[in-house]
Amino acid sequence: MIHVLFAILLAGEPVRFDPAPQFTLRQLRHTAAATRAGLARWAATEHGRLIINALAAKEYDVMVLEDDADRSAGNAPQPGLATLASAGDHAKVKSYVVVLNPTFFGDAKGMTPLPTEAGTKAELMSAAWAAEMLHVYFYAQGISLPHHARRDFQETWRAMATELGFPAMRHDDEEEAACWSH
Ligand SMILES: [Zn+2]
Repeated sequence: MIHVLFAILLAGEPVRFDPAPQFTLRQLRHTAAATRAGLARWAATEHGRLIINALAAKEYDVMVLEDDADRSAGNAPQPGLATLASAGDHAKVKSYVVVLNPTFFGDAKGMTPLPTEAGTKAELMSAAWAAEMLHVYFYAQGISLPHHARRDFQETWRAMATELGFPAMRHDDEEEAACWSH
């Protein structure tokens, strides 16, 4: 079965999943290899597929930006209250923003090592995709921050981190200062 999904916008263009992401020329030119490899890695997991499929509905747009100056590997700012409140309105298009910084881990080398099992940049970026898209998945259900203390958030994170090969990787308030901020 071929899935062609268009919910995630990278370099301003939708990513086509087939089921692995197929990148456009513009995406290849204007995004980091680690960002793209991270997406492919995350999209290959069961929970990655689940979230991508859920957000593939016409009512959602997820704009993914790279920012080398961001002080975390990723963040997913909470949308406005009107967007959260219209979660149940399927006719209304809801837009979300995810910011990834594929250079964050490179700069962190030699400094305090992150408490993570992920080694390569692609592995680390797959965790950043998973972490931030999980927040978007909750926003899309109309659930505002904080998310970290929620049992369902932590259960999904642990399952997804295990699928990525990092069963001990945490995503909580203590972790977010180092890796991701929301
Ligand atoms: Zn978080």
